[in-house]
Amino acid sequence: MITDTHSHLFWKRFDDDREEVISRAKDAGVERMLVVGTTLETSRSSFELAAAHDGLYPTAGVHPHDVEAPDEVVREEIATLCALPECVAVGETGLDYFREYSPHEAQRDWFRWHLELARLLDKPAIVHCREAHEDTVRILAEFPGVRGVMHCYAMGDEELSPYLDMGFYISFSGVVTYPKNDGNRAAALAVPADRLLVEMDCPFLAPQPFRGKRNEPAFVTATLEAVAELRGVPADEFALQTSRNAAELFGLPAL
Ligand SMILES: [Zn+2]
Ligand SMILES: [Zn+2]
Repeated sequence: MITDTHSHLFWKRFDDDREEVISRAKDAGVERMLVVGTTLETSRSSFELAAAHDGLYPTAGVHPHDVEAPDEVVREEIATLCALPECVAVGETGLDYFREYSPHEAQRDWFRWHLELARLLDKPAIVHCREAHEDTVRILAEFPGVRGVMHCYAMGDEELSPYLDMGFYISFSGVVTYPKNDGNRAAALAVPADRLLVEMDCPFLAPQPFRGKRNEPAFVTATLEAVAELRGVPADEFALQTSRNAAELFGLPAL
């Protein structure tokens, strides 16, 4: 049993073979996948996909790349989706100061809005952070009690402690398999076993040896095996541990 806690299976890059991608994942043991919304439209697609497939779980949110000025109509629709019982998390949300597709101020405003919604609904938040560690920690600290995951955690072990102290789970992606990423591997070693998750963030960031290809959930085995080896635990045991962690955080059926 493997759980990929972060996929974007709705994107056009999967239009030609989405069903095959999902069956390849299941064949590889990836029985559960979160389908993470990034806009109102893709959040709706996440719910449609999840309704049509066992083992897929939807979320709703607006990605920091896609935020503009606060939009009350969109917010109301996202909040309605997040309140549905099948919705397992609020997001993705967060801050991305690397790509800078959206103004920082708008990103911070939407991040706070999502965190307030997570608190209101008592659901976990899926947090994206790129080149924005300090602001991410500062804003998360404004919402004590809100739980969630630092998704596609790409930083080192030195940045970990505020997230762990705030009760967050840490999700590792294909990035942890890249040869130059010793800092990220140090983080994967430092996170307590009951706070670890794995993900593919497909279609981006395929792990070694698939790097450069379109990523898909089946490849999560590469990340899983890399982190298991690093921590000196059997891969199947680590798969079960991270699936149990995902079930705990997102309220999935217990294992
Ligand atoms: Zn992200
Ligand atoms: Zn994502």
